[in-house]
Amino acid sequence: MYDFTKEEQMILSMVDDVCHDRIGPVAAEVDESDSFPWKLQELLAESGIISMLFEEKYGGAGVSLNCWLRCIERISQESCSVASIVTTATMGSRPLLLAGSEAQKDRLIPDIASGDVRTCFALTEPQAGTHVANIATTATKTNDGYVINGSKVFATGGSVADIFTIFAQVEESGTKKLTCFLVDRDADGLSIGRDEDKMGMRGSASCPLYFDNMEVPESAVVGKVGDGFDIVYGTLYGGRLCAAAFGIGLSKRAYAEALAYANSRVQFSQTIGNFQAIRLKLADMEIGIKAAELLIDHAATLYMKNDPELRAYSSCTKIFCAELANKVTADAIQIFGGYGYCKDYPVERLYRDARILTIFEGTSEILRTTLAKAALNENRKA
Ligand SMILES: Cc1cc2nc3c(=O)[nH]c(=O)nc-3n(C[C@H](O)[C@H](O)[C@H](O)COP(=O)(O)OP(=O)(O)OC[C@H]3O[C@@H](n4cnc5c(N)ncnc54)[C@H](O)[C@@H]3O)c2cc1C
Repeated sequence: MYDFTKEEQMILSMVDDVCHDRIGPVAAEVDESDSFPWKLQELLAESGIISMLFEEKYGGAGVSLNCWLRCIERISQESCSVASIVTTATMGSRPLLLAGSEAQKDRLIPDIASGDVRTCFALTEPQAGTHVANIATTATKTNDGYVINGSKVFATGGSVADIFTIFAQVEESGTKKLTCFLVDRDADGLSIGRDEDKMGMRGSASCPLYFDNMEVPESAVVGKVGDGFDIVYGTLYGGRLCAAAFGIGLSKRAYAEALAYANSRVQFSQTIGNFQAIRLKLADMEIGIKAAELLIDHAATLYMKNDPELRAYSSCTKIFCAELANKVTADAIQIFGGYGYCKDYPVERLYRDARILTIFEGTSEILRTTLAKAALNENRKA
């Protein structure tokens, strides 16, 4: 397992305090109100939690991905919606860090890291979810830039973002080239739809975006025309690990709640933790969490080394942790019986928050399909 540095250990301890003192007490309220928690956004910015993964030259602490993911996991134990404020800043800025010019990075990354500028990653469209190549938004070249037409759906952080990282098709010599653009909130022709009324991750503000003859300058292109797919997948490898960290956080919290309840709830004159049926569920939770911790630790190390093995590991880790969270939170409700079905206990919210994890950042189905296809091709070559 990765050894945290002394500085990282101090950061983890600070995040633990923030979670315990400030996020935990209001987590249910964020879910209930389903409104973006501006005060917590400020808190995450002021305490350096948003900036910690960014390099020091951009105002960050340059912590390892392992440390950052552990922080995301810790915040998710309280609230995935709040953790998503941090992951959205990372996902929205990742395209810039991967392919942006020095001028673009110097202009935007310090403000994104400080939390003064909020960003979002807008890829999905009404007819292009899993099928990314089906993106229909177009960017047409003009004398001094591009005119963009189309729409996006489910852009997390969209309604509170200042800068949008979007993807559109540029047609050159009869070929469509997926390209990444930076769009300012005040761009003419951009309109922002209303936040979706979601089952879970409430307060995390996912909404549609509409582009109607939206003009952007040449300098809005991130990387080169046609770099879109590389930027998308470069970003999603990290995004899958964010989803995995959400899953581990939710699983750990649900396990802790289930353990405490099993030790206190009395039926048939004994605590329900005495029944084998309950014990087996608790043991499976522990096994899953321990395995998930090893997977994410290894995947994060591969990411830091830019190792090609990451491609498979990010999918395996995401699938495993997402499905673990769905199972652990469902089993936690079962252990709570009827009380688990009520909002008075947190397992109900954990269960709803877990449900998205097998859907976004690549559905379990498409990630499995891609894994198997790569393995079969590899085998054919051997
Ligand atoms: C809360 C939330 C937040 C989100 N945040 C963002 C965001 O910030 N930015 C962003 O760009 N997007 C975001 N998304 C969108 C998300 O990534 C998509 O919903 C996801 O990629 C699935 O696309 P879809 O909903 O169109 O489903 P579809 O692609 O229509 O899939 C429907 C079903 O068919 C299956 N399926 C599709 N193709 C195949 C295949 N080839 N083989 C086997 N099965 C297949 C899928 O696995 C799924 O079960 C978010 C979504 C939600 C709900």
